[in-house]
Amino acid sequence: MSKRLSIRWKLTLWYGSVLAVVLAAFGTIVFVMMRHHLLQRIDQGLHEELSDVLSEIKRARSPEGLKEWLQRRFAEHAGFDFQITRENGERYFFNSRLADQAWPLPTRLSESHLPSFETIPIRSKGAWRIVEIRVQGPDGPLMVQVGRSLAALEHELSELLMTFLIAGPLTLLVAICGGYFLACQVLQPMQVITRSAKSISADRLSERIDIANPDDELGELAQTLNQMIERLERSFTEMQRFTADAAHELRTPLAIIRSEAEIALRLPRSSDEYCDVLGNLLEDTNRLSTLADELLFLSRYDAGVSVPGCEAVEIHALLLDVVNNMKPVAHGKEVSISLIENAECHVTADRQILRVFYNLIDNAIKNTEPAGRITVSSRAIKNEVTIRVSDSGCGIAAEHLPRIFDRFYRVDPSRTTTGAGLGLAICQCIVRSCGGTIRAESIVGQGTSFIVSLPITSRIST
Ligand code: ADP
Repeated sequence: MSKRLSIRWKLTLWYGSVLAVVLAAFGTIVFVMMRHHLLQRIDQGLHEELSDVLSEIKRARSPEGLKEWLQRRFAEHAGFDFQITRENGERYFFNSRLADQAWPLPTRLSESHLPSFETIPIRSKGAWRIVEIRVQGPDGPLMVQVGRSLAALEHELSELLMTFLIAGPLTLLVAICGGYFLACQVLQPMQVITRSAKSISADRLSERIDIANPDDELGELAQTLNQMIERLERSFTEMQRFTADAAHELRTPLAIIRSEAEIALRLPRSSDEYCDVLGNLLEDTNRLSTLADELLFLSRYDAGVSVPGCEAVEIHALLLDVVNNMKPVAHGKEVSISLIENAECHVTADRQILRVFYNLIDNAIKNTEPAGRITVSSRAIKNEVTIRVSDSGCGIAAEHLPRIFDRFYRVDPSRTTTGAGLGLAICQCIVRSCGGTIRAESIVGQGTSFIVSLPITSRIST
């Protein structure tokens, strides 16, 4: 069926074709059965009449007596015709309707005593149904034929055929019109959905498609489209917020750099003063380039560019490295750091996973007061290794915990001056892309734990 046809036409044509086949099959079966049934009734009548003729032949004492009886009983019979022939072809008896028309003698009459039926065309008189049998007459063998014209049967059948030929196409036409109307009715909500979906553009993502009947298939389609629009709206809003936040974060250090440079250029300065200004500028540009790196990482992750090249990573060796490398930073802030438990196993992850633990430990150091304590542990349970980075720092209030992994989210913007609130969002991206999860538990004033779970590839037996 052509691809250019609308669904309603396709439905109608399919429906029409199936109905046409069903009607044709039904008509054929009825016609054949009807013919068979009528023919059976004629055969039954022929058989009864033949029995009558045979009983007369049996009773007959002489050929003349028989002829007289046959003449009396069958010569003017209303429905059936009779012909009895001697073996030499002489017509012994026939009824009045056959006076000018002799039936042909059977060519293949068996020697058995069973009658045989056949349909034969008689010139200019149509077809006849004839039953034939050879019997012993009073003075020799006789060929008995009893027949009936099939004109009435053919007339009945042709009327039936006519009825089918008129009623069939009419029924088909009515059914096709009804089918088209029904298809239009059923698909009408589809047009409403299409119109609504067309009207929802990027600036009208808050609108939804009206759902007349949520329980039927089209209602389900509309619901699915609404859910899709909702997801689009959410990611669109998130993208807008991300862009606005990124612009804001970039503008502040740029404004600082500009004002520092302007102040420095306003008056002639000593070389030490210029060195101080350049030092500040370098610090600011470092922060800017870190921010640019973080933004680039996140936008690549969003675009699916930074899909990690996974490899087997020895988690125990990795944690040992990170903790040893971060020790000087922790000690610089008089915070102790120790690896208290280390499961020996491999995970399939990108080397970026390093960044997660550096970030978490760095955050822990930043948010823990001197004399505080940071512990790192990893434990393998079933097919998962759980790495916990805990500190005895200030903790995170319960209302902030659900948003801690959001981009640009800072618990207290005045408390942290260096970060832009992207560290944990990056950690989450990396962990998720390695098939793992990350979450935070915290009690204000007692400390925070970040728990990273990663699927284990293999354990190292000791
Ligand atoms: P940043 O890159 O600015 O550090 P993060 O995404 O890493 O941002 O952290 C988001 C916020 O979570 C920070 O503002 C910080 O206050 C808070 N935070 C992160 N780790 C801890 C921790 N161990 N203890 C207390 N607060 C934390």
